Amino acid sequence: MFNLSGITSSSNKESKQVKVLILGSGPAGLSAALYAARAELAPVVLTGMELGGQAALTHTIENYPGFPDGVGGQELGELFQKQAERFGAKVEFDTAQSVDLTKRPFKITTDNAVYFSESLIVGTGARPNHLDIPGETEFTGKGVSYCATCDGWFFKDKKVIVVGGGDSALEEGLFLTRFATSVTIVHRRDSLRAGKVLQNRAFTDPKVSFLWNSALTDIKGDGVVKSVKMKNTKTGETSEIETDGVFIFIGHTPNTQLFTGQLDMDDTGYIRSTMMMETNVPGVFVAGEVADSHFRQVITSAGMGAAAAIQVTHFLEKASEHS
Ligand code: NAP
Repeated sequence: MFNLSGITSSSNKESKQVKVLILGSGPAGLSAALYAARAELAPVVLTGMELGGQAALTHTIENYPGFPDGVGGQELGELFQKQAERFGAKVEFDTAQSVDLTKRPFKITTDNAVYFSESLIVGTGARPNHLDIPGETEFTGKGVSYCATCDGWFFKDKKVIVVGGGDSALEEGLFLTRFATSVTIVHRRDSLRAGKVLQNRAFTDPKVSFLWNSALTDIKGDGVVKSVKMKNTKTGETSEIETDGVFIFIGHTPNTQLFTGQLDMDDTGYIRSTMMMETNVPGVFVAGEVADSHFRQVITSAGMGAAAAIQVTHFLEKASEHS
């Protein structure tokens, strides 16, 4: 076992020594907590600013197995937490401010404490990019969405617009044609970034139309979204169209700033990991969207969390054999 005695923190914050620290309380972090707790590693989860992660922002999750009638995103997060706590996981409402991964135990300074941890699971997630226009925040969950899989069903027989010109916008836009009567893809340029296959499918789908060279400037409504204002990016001409929903897919930003210079990342800031959830630093594992720009589902993140915790268990067993 790693000898953690005698470690002191240079700040006035309380110093805590743990075997497994988990950053993030989304499906990845809380599933990792469940598995690590059941391995009797007494994990501590730091919730970060968003308890439950992005999933908790989803009104109803209907594609997580075991809930045939769907489950509220927040409720699912609470159930994950309760289950992990039942086996001894601790969930702290705290956020990491800095990490030192140069040696073990890793040092993680948070708002309230300084942790020295024998291992680390990074499950800090990713956040959808926002347009940052008037009405966007006000109508989030009331017509504005960043997840067609989660919210598409609520737009049955309604008109929606999709913002973006990448694979996500087209793929999610095509998914929305299952429900909506029309899907208008609004793109700021006159050519798409998305791959040709998706482009062809979108161009030939009778429910899909395109508004080119158009940027949203305002989302308007009355309790729920009613219309959007747009500006032509070439002519500057403004217009307003009625819509029931605005789906925004203009890329994601992984929450990895904390690890810059310490963990290997790809060009877009996602942490590079192996199939075994390992990072370039032995003892630091990843789970969920912080290392996954592709699947972005509750179930895949939860699976990655479980896998990371299993690997942490093996890692700590080996480390104790060699100490
Ligand atoms: P993306 O490829 O970065 O595309 C983002 C789109 O949003 C671009 O068309 C961009 O316009 C537009 N955009 C960015 N900021 C904007 C703003 N402020 N206002 C209006 N429009 C804005 O992101 P993504 O579509 O989420 O894809 C991310 C990665 O996942 C890509 O590598 C993609 O290939 C992959 N992916 C693959 C699949 C698949 O293979 N089925 C599905 C989803 C995602 P510009 O084009 O003008 O820059």
